[in-house]
Amino acid sequence: MKRALNFNAGPAALPEAVLQKAQGEWLNIEDTGMSVMELSHRSNTFDAIHSKSIALLKEIMDIPDNYEVLFLQGGASLQFTMVPMNLLQSDRKAYYVLTGSWSEKALKEAKKIGNTEIAASAKESNYTYIPAVEEIAYNPADAAYLHITTNNTIYGTQWKGYPQLENAPLIADMSSDILSKKIDVSKFGLIYAGAQKNLGPSGVTVVIIRKDLINSSLTNLPTMLQYETHAKSNSLYNTPPTLAIYLLSLVLEWVQDQGGVEKLEEMNTAKAKLIYDAIDNSEGFYKGHAVPDSRSHMNVTFTLPDDHATKQFLEQAKAAGFVGLNGHRSIGGCRASIYNAVPLSHCAELAEFMKKFKETYS
Ligand code: PMP
Repeated sequence: MKRALNFNAGPAALPEAVLQKAQGEWLNIEDTGMSVMELSHRSNTFDAIHSKSIALLKEIMDIPDNYEVLFLQGGASLQFTMVPMNLLQSDRKAYYVLTGSWSEKALKEAKKIGNTEIAASAKESNYTYIPAVEEIAYNPADAAYLHITTNNTIYGTQWKGYPQLENAPLIADMSSDILSKKIDVSKFGLIYAGAQKNLGPSGVTVVIIRKDLINSSLTNLPTMLQYETHAKSNSLYNTPPTLAIYLLSLVLEWVQDQGGVEKLEEMNTAKAKLIYDAIDNSEGFYKGHAVPDSRSHMNVTFTLPDDHATKQFLEQAKAAGFVGLNGHRSIGGCRASIYNAVPLSHCAELAEFMKKFKETYS
């Protein structure tokens, strides 16, 4: 069976080795005579999987001891709400950098909770770039936090360095580039990510939160929406998404087998270069959406000369076995999502296909 050349934006390609391991344990995990989905979430077998996932994530990301790792549900989208609910005090302001639709959505939810302000925005350019750190305007006297989206899945831009604030934590939606490169977790107050790009299947959301931000005074918040509830019970307050956490543990083992985030970063840089080179060497036939120094190594977005060319490209790509190359419905064009699990060889095949398409298109 030939696996698809999968460039989906999320849910996205998973490492084949992970799927094979899961297949081998599908009917009987750890000699329990049950699948992982049939285990009690309070059983020793599941507890070991759960603890292993947390320990591996801490090790791989080098997460300092003053941070808690939480496995939540509701996707990154629920974090758009939980972050301001838990961290935006009524006498303070939440600052947001707008770099695409996901940061707009995050801001929209925060506005419902408290005072907000746009600290910088690339909207007027149709989100082709990441604002320079110096452009970010905020008042350290009233800032509750600054929120950024580290990788913009739809527009294909990515932060290369992160702003550092005086007196306020940096909050990052890292849904589409977590584990794609080495980051210094201590520079962030809170990181959140839906799993369905670099971490595993959808269904689990990872939150990495500095312990002093877990606010025990928020007794009026609904129990499930307080970080403290989940921190206190090691993310087992209610039934967790056991299958997703199990698959996450396998993906994290795979990340280690690859040599960790440093090696994945090298690989992702090489993968992205193949496709950006195909764009840059096409004499303007393909145009990248992002300006070069804001280009994402996870989502490569580009357009062709006109709608007819785009349609032909997508049709021929589909016939050749490529999946998921259409751009997001909000911006059109094309997008190749090349998360950790997408092999270099698939990116090389796509670059070659792009070159051939350009040569033969008339
Ligand atoms: N943030 C970013 C950067 C995303 O790419 C996505 C999903 N594609 C989301 C948030 C929303 O995630 P979810 O569907 O898990 O709520």
